[in-house]
Amino acid sequence: MRWEDARRSDNIEDRRGDDYADAGGGGGPMMGGAGHLGLGTMVVLGVIAYALGIDPRILIGGAEMLNNFRGGGQTVEQQAPRQQSTRQTGAPSDQIGQFVAAVVGMNEDVWSDVLPKQKNIKFTPATLVMFSGATRSACGAAQSAMGPFYCPIDQKIYLDTSFFRDMKQKFGGGGDFAYAYVISHEMGHHIENLLGILPKVQRAQQQAGSRAEANGLSVRVELMADCLAGVWAASANSKWRNIDPDDIQKAVATAQAIGDDRLQKSSRGYVVPDSFTHGSSAQRVQWLQRGMQSGQVDSCNTFSR
Ligand SMILES: [Zn+2]
Repeated sequence: MRWEDARRSDNIEDRRGDDYADAGGGGGPMMGGAGHLGLGTMVVLGVIAYALGIDPRILIGGAEMLNNFRGGGQTVEQQAPRQQSTRQTGAPSDQIGQFVAAVVGMNEDVWSDVLPKQKNIKFTPATLVMFSGATRSACGAAQSAMGPFYCPIDQKIYLDTSFFRDMKQKFGGGGDFAYAYVISHEMGHHIENLLGILPKVQRAQQQAGSRAEANGLSVRVELMADCLAGVWAASANSKWRNIDPDDIQKAVATAQAIGDDRLQKSSRGYVVPDSFTHGSSAQRVQWLQRGMQSGQVDSCNTFSR
């Protein structure tokens, strides 16, 4: 994938140099010690992950799920929302920062075109927060082990770029387009939020009769985000001719590698479909490809099937 000539987004918040105690921004008063907060949140995450039968260490988009289940867990409510960062935004100057800003920029350009055209909705940008180790979000503390996630409350995407290294080393997926797919998947959640789907799903999950039913809704949200990432790729390629078939192969391999069945198998040796929250590898590939082939937001309606 070629991204070097792409416009860099300014909606990047670089918190990589921060330590966690400072992560709220501006050096303002803290609510409790950083260590206490971090531990508390890890416990909350751990409890949720345990309840869902998922190893929190390999949870991808764990905080997405955390957010989906906010209504169900009072402990999670206590983590939200804290003071907003006052940090300046803008494209970082290092290579990975430039890459992230370029992918976010390409997402902004595509979606400010596609959303009004296809859905008669105005696109408002999300901010991408780059961090290392841990930071704070309006949805609770962000830990790099949770993987990238989108917080609908502050409309920010949280990304520890060490995830890209993990993708390459642990899941065998790498390459610029595969990384762009991860960012665009999170942007897909932002699009779902702008479409009003996330709040609806959250309400439905609170009324869900079982864990399996609530998880089923999460899977649909996740597969839709995969499909929307595909819609982005289709539009990006027709605008800039910057994606090669080889890139797509690599992204598909990544989608295959980070399906819930694969993750569960590699961590526990067996599969528990009841606790799937991202969908199986085959489903993820199928929905990503559907978006890429159609280029249409409406083709991503995972709730109608
Ligand atoms: Zn997701």
